[in-house]
Amino acid sequence: MSNIPLILAILLVAYFLWLWLREKKQAAKERFRLIKKLSSQKTALRNEQDTLLNALTDAIILVNSEGLIVFANESTTELIAGRSAKGRNLTEVFLDERVTTAIDTSMKTGRTIIERVVLPAQTSLGGSFETLGETSWLIDAAPLDRNAKKTVTRVVIRDVTAEHQTEQLRKDFVANASHELRTPLSIINGYLEHLAEGDIEDPAIINRSLTIMQKHGERIARIIDDMLVISRLESEEAVALNISPFNFSHCIHDILERLEPMIAQQKATIKLEFENEDLTLFGDHFYWTQIFFNLIENALKQNPDLGLTIEIGSKRLEDGFQLWVADNGVGIPSADVPFVFRRFYRVEKHHNQERVKGTGLGLSIVKRGVEAHKGTITADSIPGERTSFTILLPLSSEASETIS
Ligand code: ADP
Repeated sequence: MSNIPLILAILLVAYFLWLWLREKKQAAKERFRLIKKLSSQKTALRNEQDTLLNALTDAIILVNSEGLIVFANESTTELIAGRSAKGRNLTEVFLDERVTTAIDTSMKTGRTIIERVVLPAQTSLGGSFETLGETSWLIDAAPLDRNAKKTVTRVVIRDVTAEHQTEQLRKDFVANASHELRTPLSIINGYLEHLAEGDIEDPAIINRSLTIMQKHGERIARIIDDMLVISRLESEEAVALNISPFNFSHCIHDILERLEPMIAQQKATIKLEFENEDLTLFGDHFYWTQIFFNLIENALKQNPDLGLTIEIGSKRLEDGFQLWVADNGVGIPSADVPFVFRRFYRVEKHHNQERVKGTGLGLSIVKRGVEAHKGTITADSIPGERTSFTILLPLSSEASETIS
């Protein structure tokens, strides 16, 4: 009997112990559940952050104090032409000193450094090599947390190549336009000075002087006309093209009629290769006339010797239309082909006074005109064999009704 209180006490202790253990277990379970929830919330947050950082078009990089890249978003990979950046040294990834110096300065001084760098073709990692050969980046580097013991530097790199090229093109355009206009103007002024002095009496010389002045006056007018067409194509007006259906082969026949004196003089053969004579395009008739006039006139202009054959054609492809002008003339050296669409670019750099017809703007008008119609144009040349300009247009360029 005397053992009963002891047994009761043990039972009571056991009961409380059981209660305590049960609570502990429940608490542990709850803690585990919370940790799991927190960790999945953390993963979701990190994924969201990564998605956000990867969605940015700017390259975002975190660099530790040793110069090691500890984070790089997907745009960084694009910027450096598909190479990976994370875990590698800054100088290894960005080969050009100009990029690393800007970041280095921020790392060393703890200041925000914003700098625009222009990388030449040799060190451009993912730039538009074929256009101007240069890449321009806007680099913004700053410490991530100024109070942290070991600084991590955040770097934002924006590819501003397109803006840089536009700026460059504008500068070149003004420089080239002034140069191209100044040359014929100074020739005219030279002759005018002589005539004004009154010491030329020979009517034949006076006549010749006037003819030369007229030629250069016409050249100035032509350059200005071409510049106006280019500026119209590049301005907002380009979006508002005067779109209407027109018969492609009629357009070509009209151009050939205008060029007939040149064709006859050069005894050039014209081969028309229209897969469908009734092809009706939906576009701006004025610009298409200008595009094909320039291409056909170029073929004639560049090949004054007899025996030239010009091929003009159109055919339907699975996903669009192909239009072309080709000739078997002197052609374009392969080194010049990538540049012929640039403003004022001429293969023959030292154009003599007698052959002043070209402005170097013809093909840039052609390219902009084609692009305004959502097409593309390429030039290919095997000098002496075949020089062709091929235009690709989307299927939507065909008008639904036929104008024959
Ligand atoms: P241009 O007014 O001088 O003709 P373009 O922009 O039309 O200027 O052409 C640029 C240059 O491309 C020309 O100066 C010429 O050297 C070259 N070119 C264009 N078309 C042809 C062609 N069919 N055959 C040979 N060279 C060509």
